[in-house]
Amino acid sequence: MQFLSQILSSNKFFNYVCKRLNLAVYLTMDKFTQNYIDGFMASVIARNPGEKEFHQAVREVVESVAPYITAYPHLLDLKIMERMVEPERVIIFRVPWMDDRGEVQINRGFRVQMNSAIGPYKGGIRFHPSVNLSIMKFLAFEQTFKNSLTTLPMGGGKGGSDFNPKGKSDAEVMRFCQSFMTELQRHIGPDTDVPAGDIGVGGREIGYLFGQYKRLRDEFTGTLTGKGQGWGGSRMRPEATGYGLCYFAEQMLATRGETFQGKTVAISGSGNVAQYAAQKAMRLGAKVVTLSDSNGYIHDPEGLDEEKLAFVFELKNFRRGRIKEYVEQYPQATYHPDERPWGVPCDIALPCATQNEIEKEDAEKLVAGGCFCVAEGANMPSTPEAIRIFQSNGLLYSPGKASNAGGVATSGLEMSQNSMRQKWTSEEVDANLRRIMTDIHSACLKYGTEENGYVNYVKGANIAGFIKVANAMVDQGLV
Ligand code: NDP
Repeated sequence: MQFLSQILSSNKFFNYVCKRLNLAVYLTMDKFTQNYIDGFMASVIARNPGEKEFHQAVREVVESVAPYITAYPHLLDLKIMERMVEPERVIIFRVPWMDDRGEVQINRGFRVQMNSAIGPYKGGIRFHPSVNLSIMKFLAFEQTFKNSLTTLPMGGGKGGSDFNPKGKSDAEVMRFCQSFMTELQRHIGPDTDVPAGDIGVGGREIGYLFGQYKRLRDEFTGTLTGKGQGWGGSRMRPEATGYGLCYFAEQMLATRGETFQGKTVAISGSGNVAQYAAQKAMRLGAKVVTLSDSNGYIHDPEGLDEEKLAFVFELKNFRRGRIKEYVEQYPQATYHPDERPWGVPCDIALPCATQNEIEKEDAEKLVAGGCFCVAEGANMPSTPEAIRIFQSNGLLYSPGKASNAGGVATSGLEMSQNSMRQKWTSEEVDANLRRIMTDIHSACLKYGTEENGYVNYVKGANIAGFIKVANAMVDQGLV
């Protein structure tokens, strides 16, 4: 009797009965769906122990798409979500190189080829000491949905190394990139897998990586994106993630009859995404008051202008300096070591540094400081607790996979230009970027608008991204 009652109350049994009777269709976020999420996450955690960033990214997606999956039992039967969390291939490799003192150094390289249902794997390469398998898998998983949202034919992938380019000479960075590419080149190609930049991988690194790829494969193809303007790069690719973020945020603001004009904007990071987000926000009439790096943030109450931003570009991209040097140049600004910028009062926050850089307390500070719009430039910068605070306070909040998709979208445009042996004007690329960001926003509204009118961009982006990949996987059979 006790045994029978255990069976009846078990998730598996309940799920089985619901599934067979097709009951899920009639129940909204019901016990069946909750059981599905719980069972699914338990299995993901057991199969991928210790990969907390990966678990976090998967949970966010499965919580959004579970009602959709359970409403369509063929997706359950075909185990589409179970297949989506299992990378198609993971490559981990040794990267030996020699530093300027003649000492041998060894790093670890990764490429996670997550999902190729809708196109060749596509996603950046990150060089940062924190890189590990969990971070690579979370980024590759996110990338799959992001790439699907762009409407371009790109699958999801991500790669990188625990190599730290900070403080290294150009020659050391080149030797490292050459060694990294010596292995990676076997696994990539213009129709297989097309990497790009990410944290710690900018124009310099893409140049060295591309040079070694070309030398080993003896072919000049669009296998990497983010290339230099003179050798296959797309115009506007450096600007694309930051500009696309602001185009997306413009659409979010418009749902409340607002614009960037006259708004105070807090930005984290001072790298590629942060720099161009700041530039576009300023040009749309906003006052950008913060930037940061991993050591602290600067607060300029007067706001950045074109001259100050040019200083930041030069400081970060050519001198490879630290953001605290801003206050030596502009003494009206203050530097706050070991702090994040989220306590500074603002209307709009654009996190553009790294994952989990807005925790619960930071989100509370943003709400208390009057922030009403958070658009993510970085990947997964807000923790689940922070997202709950944004949403429960009715803020406009968009996840990176929607609002930072402009970078990969423009990489997709670079691939098209390379295939056609063409180079489009900045105006053409920018117009395409703006259209794609507007379309992604519309997809979020379509799938994310709740009964009370609130737009849940997390749900919208996850469902819209999921449907296209899931349908392709169904069509292509069990591969
Ligand atoms: P960059 O390397 O150009 O800049 C990264 C910035 O973030 C630097 O200011 C860096 O400071 C800061 N940062 C890195 N790690 C931390 C940390 N742990 N704590 C605080 N600050 C940190 O990278 P990108 O601008 O290209 O990338 C920024 C974010 O945007 C990442 O999440 C990336 O995945 C995402 N993204 C990037 C795209 C692109 O096209 N580049 C596309 C889509 C998303 P420091 O110099 O001290 O390390």
